[in-house]
Amino acid sequence: MGFKARARKSKAKDENGKKDEKSNKPENEVPCGIKSCDNFADKHLGGRSIGRNKVLEVWNKSDFDEIKGRVRMCKKCYRILKKETKDSKEWV
Ligand SMILES: [Zn+2]
Repeated sequence: MGFKARARKSKAKDENGKKDEKSNKPENEVPCGIKSCDNFADKHLGGRSIGRNKVLEVWNKSDFDEIKGRVRMCKKCYRILKKETKDSKEWV
């Protein structure tokens, strides 16, 4: 194994090893928190961050991924949630 292979390896690590969740990238990077959904939940696509309690009214906790008590949700899933929970007007 020459030094070239090692150099390539360390470069790959730089690109993939460090992921900053807080950096806002313009590309579609935030997958929808609903596991059965393949859409993206980026803000510029109409995605929302919904409190888990609200999401639990529509989905089971095994059906979504939450981050710090909130679920990133694409526009489509948000509409489903809104439709399913339309009686309760006050929620975040
Ligand atoms: Zn979705």
